[in-house]
Amino acid sequence: MTPKAVLDYLASHEERFIEELFAYTRIPSISAQSDHAGDMQRCAEWLVDRCVKAGLKADIRKTSGYPVVIAKSPKPDPKKPTFLVYGHYDVQPPDPLELWTSPPFEPRRVGRNVYARGISDNKGQHLAHINSVEAWLKTGNELPCNVNFLIEGEEEVGSKSLYDFLPKNAKELACKALVVSDTEIPSMKHPALCYSLRGMAPIEIRLDGPDRDLHSGLFGGAVDNPAIVLCQMLGSLRNKKGRFTIPGFYDDVIKLSAYERKQMAKVPFNETKFRKSVGVGALFGEAGYTPNEQRAARPTFELNGLTSGYQGEGGKTIIPSWASAKITMRLVPDQNPKKVITLVKKHLKAICPPTVKLTVTEGQGGGPYMVDPTGPLAQACMRAAKAGFGHECVLARGGGSIPIIAAFKQHLKADSLMLGLALPDDNAHSPDEKFSLDAYMAGMKMAAHLWPELASVP
Ligand SMILES: [Zn+2]
Repeated sequence: MTPKAVLDYLASHEERFIEELFAYTRIPSISAQSDHAGDMQRCAEWLVDRCVKAGLKADIRKTSGYPVVIAKSPKPDPKKPTFLVYGHYDVQPPDPLELWTSPPFEPRRVGRNVYARGISDNKGQHLAHINSVEAWLKTGNELPCNVNFLIEGEEEVGSKSLYDFLPKNAKELACKALVVSDTEIPSMKHPALCYSLRGMAPIEIRLDGPDRDLHSGLFGGAVDNPAIVLCQMLGSLRNKKGRFTIPGFYDDVIKLSAYERKQMAKVPFNETKFRKSVGVGALFGEAGYTPNEQRAARPTFELNGLTSGYQGEGGKTIIPSWASAKITMRLVPDQNPKKVITLVKKHLKAICPPTVKLTVTEGQGGGPYMVDPTGPLAQACMRAAKAGFGHECVLARGGGSIPIIAAFKQHLKADSLMLGLALPDDNAHSPDEKFSLDAYMAGMKMAAHLWPELASVP
């Protein structure tokens, strides 16, 4: 049970929590731009101060890149379970500046929204957790579990230093599970536990035909056109029902359970609104699945770029010498990127005619991720979210990837419980990024309830 004093403390300190959110987002901690290195250090220092004020033990840890901030329960009890909150204090570059209504590092409040770069992704979200721990500690209540924080400064540029830091500090960071607030909820009425993410497998396909571009009048008809062959090969990979024809592609896909489908159907979805929001006349997707299922629970084979022949001004009558395609596949549990790429290569080889030479280059991929949504930790999260938001928590799958989550599983042997506070219109990575103060306050309440809920899991 969460003591009433903890919840009262959160409510009565709302204005100060908002002021601190303003102060935090005023620091332009842009990890991608080296001229902000000083701001990155200042931001990490601000965060350490904030954690210390909350009653935590906190310090800055040097890495090969930007520092990591570690904060810990003041009196860790080895008999209690430990949970680790992960977040990132770095932000995306704000460019293009002219598309912002007000300066990105001058937070602007409009009603219950605050506009600033990095406020939703991810400063506001992990600050809510720090505030919740403060409420427990400052009201003299003992936390029912040990709560530690790992806040990095390179999430927006690939977390390179954290990948080195994790294995070296795995003992210190040991935990029963991680709590990550960096995902979306469908609305304030639909808090959500994100229990699965898609993985990714990138490849590039290149077909080489004649050793130079040829005159289409002198050679056309007798020499094959690599661009047409590529289109034919790619076109044959998807049937009219939206299914991919690569043998074995779906073999390791875990079937959606009736419980999951029921849960996913609780998330409101307006097809017309969605269709209009992306500017298409009709939606397309694998038959037998809803758009939300297609976007997060089914694998895709997406053609990202197609290059061949002449693309300059006017025309040029040639048979191009080569054609290439950039592809990324989004994979779902339990597909393995290496295995899927091997299947794709084998199939492409089988369907490639002898008139062209096929080369497939592999990029750096990452596996999909899933926590059992019916497991006790997931269910504890859903109860905490319901208590914080005042609405039933839904289960959601994320269509994108958070590669560091797989690294947590590998090095800390712990699952990540994703309880995001971002709303669909928060404009993360875009101009006019915003964060809802209602989500901030509900998130603090949720976080306050989370510790007794998670601690009660045997
Ligand atoms: Zn981001």
